[in-house]
Amino acid sequence: MRDTTKSEPNCDVLVVGGGVIGLTTAVVLAERGRRVRLWTRDPVARTTSAVAGALWWPYRIEPMESARAWALRSLDVYEHLAERPEVTGVRMVEGVMGGTLPEEIGTWTAGRLADARLATAEEYPRGPGMWARLPLIDMSTHLPWLRERLVAAGGLIEEREVKDFGETEAPVVVNCAGLGARELAPDASVRPVRGQLVVVENPGIRTWMVAETVGSESAYFFPQPGRLILGGTAEEDAWSLEPDPAVAEGIVQRCAALRPEIGEARVLEHRVGLRPARHEVRLECERLPGERLLVHNYGHGGAGVTVAWGCAEEAAHLTTAGQG
Ligand SMILES: Cc1cc2nc3c(=O)[nH]c(=O)nc-3n(C[C@H](O)[C@H](O)[C@H](O)COP(=O)(O)OP(=O)(O)OC[C@H]3O[C@@H](n4cnc5c(N)ncnc54)[C@H](O)[C@@H]3O)c2cc1C
Repeated sequence: MRDTTKSEPNCDVLVVGGGVIGLTTAVVLAERGRRVRLWTRDPVARTTSAVAGALWWPYRIEPMESARAWALRSLDVYEHLAERPEVTGVRMVEGVMGGTLPEEIGTWTAGRLADARLATAEEYPRGPGMWARLPLIDMSTHLPWLRERLVAAGGLIEEREVKDFGETEAPVVVNCAGLGARELAPDASVRPVRGQLVVVENPGIRTWMVAETVGSESAYFFPQPGRLILGGTAEEDAWSLEPDPAVAEGIVQRCAALRPEIGEARVLEHRVGLRPARHEVRLECERLPGERLLVHNYGHGGAGVTVAWGCAEEAAHLTTAGQG
């Protein structure tokens, strides 16, 4: 990390937020030749983005039509990044999306998931499901890789909290503060949707599975290098970052009902994250005093990884369109 000065006058754009949205946005801007600084309150490992599973799929995000377009643009990028999985943390992995039919997604993916098909009864005994090859992102590799890519493009990253946009000086500020936008914007419509996960030793599972959700509880598992991520929950307006042992036990049981060997797997870690939910993603411009521009890019709910590149490109476009 290059930590130089205390202020940010020598930059074109200040990005606030160092989760997947802020880092991806900063990478896009820096690679378009802008001098970028990124300020993050938390180290990358303590962001919501570090908790994510993370499967490419538009889940708990609005407006769905825009989210699908951002997701498809991100799919292009992730497919490319999956050519170097050890470096980028992105792999294309097969699995089953329970309750989804291939023809349902055909309309919005416009044939981009060419190999999607109906899952067989053996692959998904609980009813109809879609078998598809989707990006699965190991955030413990992907986030550090994004940081390195930003620094390689000339970006500066500093651990620093912004209390008020008035304390910034850059001509353009991009707000990628996730749930932090609640106080910073301020915007009370950004609310937490708490998600808990259990990380176990992988008992030899190579494909992912997402079963249908019942209320706030779902059952899914994602194989990541050296481990299996089990999920999950989605509790609205719950703020606790403490893992709840009873919730963890429920997650393991629901996943073991899908694949019995999971019930015997050794637990490695418990994770909790707060999804930055909003009635719709906020991707728009605002004026700051002194002819400065503020671009908001937050509120990506349960799909920030899925839409990161599409939103980053739109935010980058707004930083120039809004200056005109
Ligand atoms: C359990 C769980 C599973 C998930 N699974 C998936 C999945 O499979 N696929 C998927 O696409 N998505 C998934 N998500 C959702 C995804 O994690 C989020 O949508 C995404 O991480 C949001 O990214 P972000 O960068 O906006 O927020 P964050 O990662 O929270 O980053 C916000 C950043 O802003 C900084 N910040 C906040 N306030 C300030 C301030 N005042 N000053 C300076 N910096 C500030 C923080 O320090 C942080 O760096 C999951 C989430 C959870 C909790």
